[in-house]
Amino acid sequence: MTNDQLPTVEARSAGDRVMTMLRERALGAMARAYAPYSGFRVGAALLAADGSVTEGCNVENASFPAGMCAERSAVAAAVARGNRDFDSILIATEAEEPTPPCGICRQVLEEFSPRLVVVSVTTGGREARWSLEELLPRAFTPKSLDRR
Ligand code: ZN
Repeated sequence: MTNDQLPTVEARSAGDRVMTMLRERALGAMARAYAPYSGFRVGAALLAADGSVTEGCNVENASFPAGMCAERSAVAAAVARGNRDFDSILIATEAEEPTPPCGICRQVLEEFSPRLVVVSVTTGGREARWSLEELLPRAFTPKSLDRR
C-alpha cells in the first residue's frame, strides 16, 4: 500500500464517527433483543451504501427454530425500506469474545453484499473485524444458480 492509498486524517475520523454511531445503534438494539431462552442478546446495525442505518436484534420463540438472528432481522428490515446494498454491519453482544454471524446469516448477507465489512463488538470493549469473504469463502451466490 502506498501513502496515496492511506485514508486521510479526515476520512479516518469520519470512519471512526460512523463506527461509534453503529456501535451505539447496535448496542441499543441488543438491549431490546427478545432472548428469554438463551439469554444471549444480540444487536446489529447495518450500514447501507446510501448512509442509512437499520437495526436488528435477535427474536427468539418458544418454538426454537422460529427464532430470528439480529443480522437477518436487520437485513429484512433494510430490504423492506428499499436498501439492498450494504457497506458494513456491526454486531454487538455481551459475550466474552466478539461473535461472528452464524452460517445462515453469512449466507443472507452474501446475497446482497459480498464485499461487506463485518465488525463485532462486546459490551466489555473487545472488537473484531472481518470481510464477509473471509467468513464465507466460496459462497453459494445468485450466480451459482446459473445453468449455463
Ligand atoms: Zn445468524
